[in-house]
Amino acid sequence: MLLIPSSSITTFFSRTLLNPNSRTLLRTMASNSHAFAGNPIRTKTPKPTDPVSPQSAIQTLKTLLISGQTGPFSPDFRILPFRKGRPLAGWTTEGLKWHLGWLSLGECKVYLENSEAARLGDDAFVYLGCRNENGDDDVVYWAVDVSEVSELVNELGARHFCFVELRTLMVATDWADSTAMGYLAIAGHARALLEWHNTARFCGYCGCGTVSAEAGRRKQCSNELCKKRIYPRVDPVVIMLVIDKDNDCVLLSRQSRFVPRMWSCLAGFIEPGESLEEAVRRETWEETGIEVGEVVYHSSQPWPVGAGSMPCQLMVGFFAYARTLEINVDKEELEDAQWHSREDVKKALTFAEYKKAQLTAAAKVEQMCKGVEKGQNLSADFNVESGELATMFIPGPFAIAHHLILSWVNQVPVDGVGPQKQAAGSISSL
Ligand SMILES: [Zn+2]
Repeated sequence: MLLIPSSSITTFFSRTLLNPNSRTLLRTMASNSHAFAGNPIRTKTPKPTDPVSPQSAIQTLKTLLISGQTGPFSPDFRILPFRKGRPLAGWTTEGLKWHLGWLSLGECKVYLENSEAARLGDDAFVYLGCRNENGDDDVVYWAVDVSEVSELVNELGARHFCFVELRTLMVATDWADSTAMGYLAIAGHARALLEWHNTARFCGYCGCGTVSAEAGRRKQCSNELCKKRIYPRVDPVVIMLVIDKDNDCVLLSRQSRFVPRMWSCLAGFIEPGESLEEAVRRETWEETGIEVGEVVYHSSQPWPVGAGSMPCQLMVGFFAYARTLEINVDKEELEDAQWHSREDVKKALTFAEYKKAQLTAAAKVEQMCKGVEKGQNLSADFNVESGELATMFIPGPFAIAHHLILSWVNQVPVDGVGPQKQAAGSISSL
């Protein structure tokens, strides 16, 4: 049996659900325990008057990149290269885990010949944050898209760095390791911004090209008559665990794209003019024919690794209490949907399999960084989640669906009126 770390979301629920006001607490829960949340270098929205504003920082960065200066540089710059949406990662032999491939400005100057640096447009750089570290100088963090700089791959490969699919890093991350979870959040934030730059090349109002502004934090239409300001958008997705209180069951579903034996929560996009609660009820009704009454907010998770061309989705999680039980699956949306008992769902929380998948993915990242798997097709990454031990399983601890389901599993129903309190200590024994 594996123990869930004391800092995890699970323990939060063990505390809150013992409290009679647990539902109120659930609504106010911070979501920084989820993968991709809790970015340690995200700072308050910078102002032009800040000592190191994004505008001033990018001018300094660009000047220094093409200058003959060799350092030291002030402020200190840390630059995370991305290639086709994949962050640069390295492997730490001590501790056997991956880390982000931050480069100093000096290293960037070596790897990016002056001509290459000059060729990178403003769109290639995005400001990630600024921190005053250890009372020393400010450190300014950047992501740079080097998809067009072909020579860089060999240079970095020689240092045992490799561009790795974010989804692979997500599965490879030990969810008990807060430092590694911080890396994941930084990479997710950076990827979302860089991908947004790739999809926001033209103004939606007049069709003219856009230019980067505020060090990549927004874009602006280049047409002098339009000059629309364009900000990164987040696409909210409702994800809900539909609960049958009377029979102590939950509704889980399968999509055809899922790996075999994986079941998860229902999810769907919000339509214009619709509240989150309405979206939960509509999506549940459309996909399964089940009518939902009460909808209770659980938590939310940034999701920069979703399918399609949306750079950053925000998964907004709910408990949805069913009013009707008859399932009528929309086969165009789902492969199947079924009610599952608490015992069956508990067995599907296969922590041994999650750990195995994490170690397998970590070994893959190690091999990639050491050049063993160079050139391998990464499209099969999702398969590392697939388990071998249980008859069914649910997504791993990196997904909000996991936490919605785990929260419910660890609640104890009271006289058929639904989960209100929890047996002390039951979570730590998972
Ligand atoms: Zn325009």
